[in-house]
Amino acid sequence: MLQSYFYVYSIMILEKGDFMNSVFLRLNNNEVNFVKDEKVNSLVNELKLKGILPIEDLKYIIENISISESRNLFKLADMVKNQYYGNKVYLRALIEVSNYCKQGCFYCGINRDNKSIKRYRLTEDEVFEAVKKAYDLGYRTFVLQGGDDPFLNDDIISSILVKIKTAFPQTRITLSLGEKTQASYDKLKLAGADRYLLRHETASFKHYMYLHPQDMLYDNRIKCLHYLRSSKYQVGTGMMIGSPYQTVDTLVSDLMFLYKFQPEMIGIGPFIHHHDTKFKDHSDGGLYETLIMISLARIIVPKALIPATTALGSIVEGGRELALKAGANVLMPNLGPEEQRELYKIYDNKITTSDSDIVFKNKLEKKLINEGHAVDYSVGDHIDLEGVKL
Ligand code: SAH
Repeated sequence: MLQSYFYVYSIMILEKGDFMNSVFLRLNNNEVNFVKDEKVNSLVNELKLKGILPIEDLKYIIENISISESRNLFKLADMVKNQYYGNKVYLRALIEVSNYCKQGCFYCGINRDNKSIKRYRLTEDEVFEAVKKAYDLGYRTFVLQGGDDPFLNDDIISSILVKIKTAFPQTRITLSLGEKTQASYDKLKLAGADRYLLRHETASFKHYMYLHPQDMLYDNRIKCLHYLRSSKYQVGTGMMIGSPYQTVDTLVSDLMFLYKFQPEMIGIGPFIHHHDTKFKDHSDGGLYETLIMISLARIIVPKALIPATTALGSIVEGGRELALKAGANVLMPNLGPEEQRELYKIYDNKITTSDSDIVFKNKLEKKLINEGHAVDYSVGDHIDLEGVKL
């Protein structure tokens, strides 16, 4: 089933020629895509045994992997995931709380300079209502994500956190609200937050500067990840694949960074252009490139919780399902108020569903079970934290 899935997608994608600007050189070459490079296979096997490889070997894998060896990689990543988490797919309710943002990330559609989008911010009651609805549907983790919205100060967020945790004590709250001070992260943790997602975006200082304006500092992003760690959050980081000016070296730096930091969660999705940004004319990241990086991340950080991202589902129908067979084990359906889902447009053609939440839930469960997964609505902590009182 999986093999034929990958085969059909391989053909579809090769015909579309989506690999044009990829740094995955051999994947980009239609003629060699089905011809084996045994060195790639043996390096991938060695990576699984050792957990990490020298930079040159990781570089060799990325530059020389083709569709042929990617199947071996996906299978190994799936095995590593099964070893720690079995066939469970953890479901989290994503609530996009605000699209106001003080940051100027060049790739992001809700950055401060985009004057042509309608801005919104959910009220405390709206956030709570969305959480309650998700709770009633069975969700036990709520992910509150938004732009770096200065209006949402520590007191406002804390008040929401306390309200949620008082009503639903046996749950987890993940925040993804950008860069803050150590004191703020501490305060929010104390008020009830358990996890925090803050992608490093790229582990190359220089590449970071190409993706962000001068007032956004790579060092600060990394410092925030360390603050989060010392504030005792389960920490998530990650990067986009195919972002403008990405190279094989920046991708290898990303893998090395993941290995050193050993995050509890890793978010990896393709870059997708947004028509109102500086990067509007750059091509989108590819499906295979993203799946390969997800698999490598799984092998390098074996116990991580790794979502099959919305961005992956937005570039190819069925992209998220493929990720769940290549090392990913989390899905985060959007459960914010329907009117606002359309407005959190960080990139073009972001998928939304016209189904009601309950119809969507039933369809999703059926699909996952059909593909051999077990649907898991529990809090789904990182395996090293299971049973630990947070
Ligand atoms: N303000 C929060 C949340 C940002 S949105 C923060 O700074 O962490 C979450 C993630 O979406 C970002 O970290 C980025 O990696 C991703 N993203 C933003 N724009 C994107 C785009 N055009 N294509 C794909 N992913 C994008």
